[in-house]
Amino acid sequence: MSLRISPLWWPFLAVASPVMVPFLLVRNRRFKKNILIADELNRQHIGQTRPFDLPVLDFLEMTVLVEEKAEEGFLGDAGVSCLFRSDRGSLLFDVGFGPERPALAHNAARLGITLDGIDALCISHLHPDHMGGMKASRVRRVTLPGEMGMPNEKPCFLPDTADAPGFSSELVDIPRLLTSGIATTGPLARSLFFFGLTEEQALFARLKGKGLVIFTGCGHPTIERIVQMVRRVSSEPIHAIGGGLHFPVTGGRGNRAGIQFQTILGTGKPAWKRINDDDLTGTIGEINKMNPSRVLLSGHDSCDHSLERMQQELHADTEVLKAGKTYRF
Ligand SMILES: [Zn+2]
Ligand SMILES: [Zn+2]
Repeated sequence: MSLRISPLWWPFLAVASPVMVPFLLVRNRRFKKNILIADELNRQHIGQTRPFDLPVLDFLEMTVLVEEKAEEGFLGDAGVSCLFRSDRGSLLFDVGFGPERPALAHNAARLGITLDGIDALCISHLHPDHMGGMKASRVRRVTLPGEMGMPNEKPCFLPDTADAPGFSSELVDIPRLLTSGIATTGPLARSLFFFGLTEEQALFARLKGKGLVIFTGCGHPTIERIVQMVRRVSSEPIHAIGGGLHFPVTGGRGNRAGIQFQTILGTGKPAWKRINDDDLTGTIGEINKMNPSRVLLSGHDSCDHSLERMQQELHADTEVLKAGKTYRF
């Protein structure tokens, strides 16, 4: 298990500790308060959700534009962007680091995907690796590379308040159908130590003869909570689970200056505790109980150790997503 903060930083941390320790204690107080708020929000949202009709899709496929792993000729990046296509239309889910890094523009161009060819955009949550970069997240503005063309007022479904210039923004507050026969869980909350109270939506759809397909962004609310919400809408068998499950157990992606930010910033634990193998064992057991036939793992927020364990221990046919590849559910 690698160190989350390089020893080169330790003398600095020692000097800064009179300031940092009180800062962390204040953060921890807010973190604990947010745990109670998130639990209450989820309890209300899940409790108030009633079943609704999910259209039965004849086919559903997903082309990965941005992922940690990539097919030859495509760029990998620690972000997420996937284009879903069904017999009822298309939906772009997340936009990675947008124009800040080359992956989205490069991969989209190589795949011949522009905004002209999509019906709508959905942003899972307002983190930099999903809504278009650090600046996009800081100013809460969904940002795409200009090379992808003009949005032309297509819908952009958001789980929290943000701008989406050129799109027609729609704040999603409850589970509902979006476009293309694909539904959203609506925002589910999680208290994250540094990012604060984070609301994230996941997608789900019903595929003819197979059952439900459930797809997450970062998976911050936990897959257990996401599936609990999906189950309020439909009792169909789960055919596939995909996307980020957030298990940076042995290290994070996109480390900078000797710091594994992902193991510290986006977890549902205090900064001084890490996500560990026991947490992963618990989730693997829960997914096996959900009994999906397929699991498509995102490598953008899980380390290779976690991906390997899931591939070995999940009963489902399990693979790691790659940018440039199309998956037919
Ligand atoms: Zn993420
Ligand atoms: Zn995130």
